[in-house]
Amino acid sequence: VGFTPANAARESAAEAAAIARPDPARARAHSRALSAETHVAGTPAQARTRDYVIAEMKKLGLETEVRAYRVWMPHATAVHVWRLTPDGRSEELALAEPPVPGDSTSYLPQYPTVNGSSAAGDATGDVVYVNYGLIEDYAQLDSVGVSVRGKVVLARYGRSFRGIKAREAEKRGAVALLIYSDPADDGYVRGDVYPAGPMRNANGVQRGSVFNGDGDPCTPGYPSLPNAPCVSADRMGVPHIPVVPISYGNAARLLEPLGGAAIPASWQGGLPFRYHVGPGPVRARVQVRDDSATAAYKTIWDTFGVVRGAELPDELVIIGGHRDGWGPGAADNVSGTVSVLEAARAVAEQLKAGHRPRRTIVFATWDAEEWGLVGSTEYVEDDSLRLARHAVAYLNQDVAAQGPAFGGGGSPSLRAVLRDVASTVPDPSGRGSVYDVWRRRAGVVDTATPNMGDPGGGSDFAGFYNHLGIPIAEWGFGGAGGVYHSQYDSYAWMTKFGDPTYAYHAAAARVAAGMVLRLADADVLPYDYVEYARTLRRYVGPIVRSLATRGWTGTPGGAQPSLAPVSAALDRMERAAADFAAARDARLATPNAPTRQSLAAANEALKQVERALTRPEGLRTRPWFRNLVYASDEDNGYANIPLPSVSEAARAGDRTLLEREIADLAGRIDAATAALGRAVEALR
Ligand code: GLU
Ligand code: CA
Ligand code: ZN
Ligand code: ZN
Repeated sequence: VGFTPANAARESAAEAAAIARPDPARARAHSRALSAETHVAGTPAQARTRDYVIAEMKKLGLETEVRAYRVWMPHATAVHVWRLTPDGRSEELALAEPPVPGDSTSYLPQYPTVNGSSAAGDATGDVVYVNYGLIEDYAQLDSVGVSVRGKVVLARYGRSFRGIKAREAEKRGAVALLIYSDPADDGYVRGDVYPAGPMRNANGVQRGSVFNGDGDPCTPGYPSLPNAPCVSADRMGVPHIPVVPISYGNAARLLEPLGGAAIPASWQGGLPFRYHVGPGPVRARVQVRDDSATAAYKTIWDTFGVVRGAELPDELVIIGGHRDGWGPGAADNVSGTVSVLEAARAVAEQLKAGHRPRRTIVFATWDAEEWGLVGSTEYVEDDSLRLARHAVAYLNQDVAAQGPAFGGGGSPSLRAVLRDVASTVPDPSGRGSVYDVWRRRAGVVDTATPNMGDPGGGSDFAGFYNHLGIPIAEWGFGGAGGVYHSQYDSYAWMTKFGDPTYAYHAAAARVAAGMVLRLADADVLPYDYVEYARTLRRYVGPIVRSLATRGWTGTPGGAQPSLAPVSAALDRMERAAADFAAARDARLATPNAPTRQSLAAANEALKQVERALTRPEGLRTRPWFRNLVYASDEDNGYANIPLPSVSEAARAGDRTLLEREIADLAGRIDAATAALGRAVEALR
């Protein structure tokens, strides 16, 4: 799709050659080097990964660039948790993850077991168990009369972004939050534990950010350039209580002695005793120290390797992955970094073989993703005008390989091209293409396609997608694992369980090489706006049904607000997209191909389609979120809300607002449709 017959043949040959280049042995060597030590953002070890990646990009002959940002990022320097029993005894829990024989980096220094952007402090209180710490879990607690005010809250990981758990606990007056990995969700209930198996053992800890914003907490919506002002502390969106992740071994010591209310059945986890809510009688003291008084600001570095386009050098196809981790990070995210590096090599070698891409390709690595997508967000805010105008796509590589199960997703406009590229890459299992194996695993039949994820929250595509409306795609090979954000996310774990042959690292890079070339070379950008409009159309029904469940008083007959304007606009968009696809295919197939000017005009119009569905003032509650197609759920963090401006107005139950949002969205969909119409015109 999107090529003249002559260019299609040339492109297929170039892609096939590029796809063959990623090499498991090289991937392994990069993985070993980049996971040799814990490389938390803002540390000397992370400067070393910057130097490694830049040196590799230079070896490939790429133009390189490093962008540094100075951001607010206090690091924890010490953490203690004591269990205080009713008989007056106090015992300190051993929080650090102990060394595991056979895993050399488990013997090296590790980052304290403190959540990113936790407050420093020293707090003591009765322990209360709050299940996952979701809003609905607190509603349950309210109904049995249990308050967490003044208490140390113990929540299990899962079902929401941990920053939401911190926000909800603090909002209700908790003095500290402990978040643990329950074996039912992440431990022995799932399989054998490390080092016997891949799952989390009784000492394993999931670190991770509890900041709910995007980017440097100091500079929401604008880049952290020198002299940029920092917002006042109360607007930074970081917790004011200590938030500490603990293992299930330690959680058991606090949970087992809890008394108080019997728990709802679904609150029972996988530990071998009956859970109770408390409060108490066991108490806990939580103490966190950090370097905020002396070193609150740290420098982070994004790296770029650039292949300048031959014909459209201003147009950008960007692929990136974060380079920082919480530990050695072999899976998260050395694997993504390696995919970017090997894809860069594939393209660089094609260049030497005489295939120069038409558009510019940027191979990026981001710093401080783990602290709130900081490096990618500051870059997007820094270069927003250029990106908004010239970026064709952003492709994200976060955990590209930690098992055999392929998954992919992103904007509905790029799903078809991802499926197509996946069908050209051999699966490491030897059982067909990546796409074939993906379909089989998903159990789809006939012409059905495997489900593809929507962009929710939680990785570096957010700046590109949610803030600027640039089409994004992401993919990776997943599998059972229990070392997320642990010191045990190591080369030893990867070689034993995740991807022992590194064939899946190479396969992720093959998909990457195919994707960047396809997008960089296309005569007409291969977005699929038929699939896009159809995908959006499916979101209307559930919103309508959610409206039906509440009363709409004060209106003629109490009739509920109608989403018909949105549905009708999406129908028009689908028709325009189908007309465009037909015009494109017909026009590219004719012997006298369209002129450069008409192709340029068509591509310019196509780039406006998704941009039209962003609005400069953003969502009502979150101005940084400009894209009206998807946003991460404010009450969940990772989950995705489709059509968020309308969905959130529906949730708020505000009829006037909802009707305004419906009209606004329909108008913007019509603007996208008009852009498709201009693309058709351009090809005439
Ligand atoms: N991917 C990281 C995590 O899940 C960061 C996500 C974020 O800050 O939004 O912890
Ligand atoms: Ca910023
Ligand atoms: Zn990651
Ligand atoms: Zn991570």
